[in-house]
Amino acid sequence: MSTVVAVDGPAGSGKSSVSRAAAAKLGFAFLDTGAAYRALAWSVLEHGGNPEHPEDVVRALDGFRFESADDPAEHWVRVGGADVTDAIREPRVTSAVSGVARVAAVREALNVGFRQRLAAADPGVVVEGRDITTVVAPDADVRVLLTASPEVRAARRARQLPDLHHETVARAIAERDAKDSQVVDFLEAADGVTTLDSTDLDFDGTVEALVGLVLERVPR
Ligand code: C5P
Repeated sequence: MSTVVAVDGPAGSGKSSVSRAAAAKLGFAFLDTGAAYRALAWSVLEHGGNPEHPEDVVRALDGFRFESADDPAEHWVRVGGADVTDAIREPRVTSAVSGVARVAAVREALNVGFRQRLAAADPGVVVEGRDITTVVAPDADVRVLLTASPEVRAARRARQLPDLHHETVARAIAERDAKDSQVVDFLEAADGVTTLDSTDLDFDGTVEALVGLVLERVPR
């Protein structure tokens, strides 16, 4: 039985980098579920589809093959064998992804793949997204909602995107959270989910806090 650490949170909460670093420290695999939604959005655009049209999105789902590195020290994402690691972070994909994630058939199909990866992880996995603690792995050994104030999230994301104006980044984050939260509630912790607020923590402090929660719940 593998140990599953489920981490949810809004855009810019740092959940990807924090979860990856925690997985490395724990010797666990890492799964970024947002990368799969981004990869599908990339596919829709690549096929000339409109991400706001569910029929285009469902068409792209046909034959969609998503792969990503299990090892937190590696960093690659592939669709049908093509490397899309950088392409899925482009602003055009980020703007398209909420439309894709709204389609129920997409969520069901991707969740099947996620659950297979969780079951296969040995000895454990840190998996992050929006609905991991509630839908994908509600029975996870450790369930965490990673939050930070909107100002801090915007500032962190702006540092990753130095070419964009701070206000533009803040607005894009707020809009994406608003759209995403119509589909899954990741702004409030569900029953049994621990909130980890990183507003006043630096990166290392947040990783340590997450690893601490895991070690407390899953003695090794
Ligand atoms: O985490 P990241 O910002 O890369 O996620 C990209 C998008 O994928 C989110 O804005 C959301 O629309 C979608 N997503 C989701 N459920 C997840 C993970 C991501 O709907 N579990």
